[in-house]
Amino acid sequence: MDDETQPETISLRLASWNLNHWRQPLLPADTRRAAWEYLTRDIGAQVALVQEAVPPLEFGRDRVVYGEMAGHRNWGSAVVALDPAVCIEPLGSVRNAWSRRRFLLTNTHPGSVAVARLTVPGIQPITLVSVYGVLDGSVVSTMLRVIADLVPLFDSPYGARVILGGDLNVSRATKDPKHLARAEAVFATIRSLGLVEAKSLVTEPPTSSPECPCGSGATCDHVPTWGRAELDHLFVSPSLAGQVRAVSVDPTAVTAGLSDHVPLVIDLELSPERTPHIWDEESFAEEIGRRHGPAARDIIERLVSWADQKERELASATGVRTKTLTRFPTNGSTIDPELWWQVDLELEPKGIQSTISIKAKGDVVVQFGNMRHPPFDSTEARDELRVTLNEMDGVDIPARQLRWWPRFPLSVLEDPANLARLVAVLDRITTESHAAPPAVADPPAESEDLVAAAAE
Ligand SMILES: [Zn+2]
Repeated sequence: MDDETQPETISLRLASWNLNHWRQPLLPADTRRAAWEYLTRDIGAQVALVQEAVPPLEFGRDRVVYGEMAGHRNWGSAVVALDPAVCIEPLGSVRNAWSRRRFLLTNTHPGSVAVARLTVPGIQPITLVSVYGVLDGSVVSTMLRVIADLVPLFDSPYGARVILGGDLNVSRATKDPKHLARAEAVFATIRSLGLVEAKSLVTEPPTSSPECPCGSGATCDHVPTWGRAELDHLFVSPSLAGQVRAVSVDPTAVTAGLSDHVPLVIDLELSPERTPHIWDEESFAEEIGRRHGPAARDIIERLVSWADQKERELASATGVRTKTLTRFPTNGSTIDPELWWQVDLELEPKGIQSTISIKAKGDVVVQFGNMRHPPFDSTEARDELRVTLNEMDGVDIPARQLRWWPRFPLSVLEDPANLARLVAVLDRITTESHAAPPAVADPPAESEDLVAAAAE
């Protein structure tokens, strides 16, 4: 084996911990600050998923994604970046492939769930979800709704690399068959999102308690996190499963009086290898920026906002939307995305007129070969587009390409004059395209059987 081909991994330590700060006024001393110091210094956590917490103001807004639960609770769940080398940003809503509508990820007891994107230099971002199971009649009911809220995340570009953890307040460590069945349902629902429980991935998970409420006498895999009960859990996406190195708990947090829960700590060796995922126009623009720089990203954002504006302009001119430009199809789950600008012809007969697509490696593809609708179903009309495109400096599409998929470099569009010429071509295709009326079908030949049946 050639060691130089081995990608260099980066260590990450993450803790999930219920800080129990709601009980603070009843505690003998202010342990809040000590708890955060313990998390950073003693545990060495670089990032934390915390619950029943109030992150200190001095952490700074860019280090904390936090929502207060309010009502009679002045605390909530948070994702906190403790190591200055890592960054987090909130993720409030996502879209999926079949709708431009965005879906909020936290609808049930807002503040009980915090979702953030973690960026570790050199590593594809990871989505972090900090969850607290609120006792609102039934924790199982809350947790099933919280997980249901998160389903769109897993249909979005941000669902392929997830670490979800927290005080779910749900435990399989019980002898009560009713409670066990409901807990199993919660965990099955989490698994249905594709997540894997972190403790199942390591050879030496934390040991069970001899007094585990399930009655197995420490032969089970239940990890005591609150007294003898297992209320806290950590899950990871399959793409990260092979990068989990250790899962541990630290009982000194409880003996030192910092909380009534122990922190669950996970150690990962993050690989710089990219995980395939699905894409939308935002994540595509970000990827273009990552590969080709901010000027290239700006081109994508301008072309996306052109489509948005043009769609509104056409709709206000006709009073009804006859053409959709903002669907932005992509090529599925991949590390090499391609984004299509298409004109969905919404009037009957419906149709799709292709315009261009852009490949993440930096090519613009002119979709001559897919222009199936008038007037651009003719090579004469496409030739007019070709001539205009060739007015861009650095573009020279030969006439023999009129039935094919010619390409030019994305960098050509960094010149604003070139970008304006391309937009003029897109504008023309959008304005003029219409679906051909359906061909009149031949009347079906009369079947002898039918004639015979009708005669009876
Ligand atoms: Zn047990």
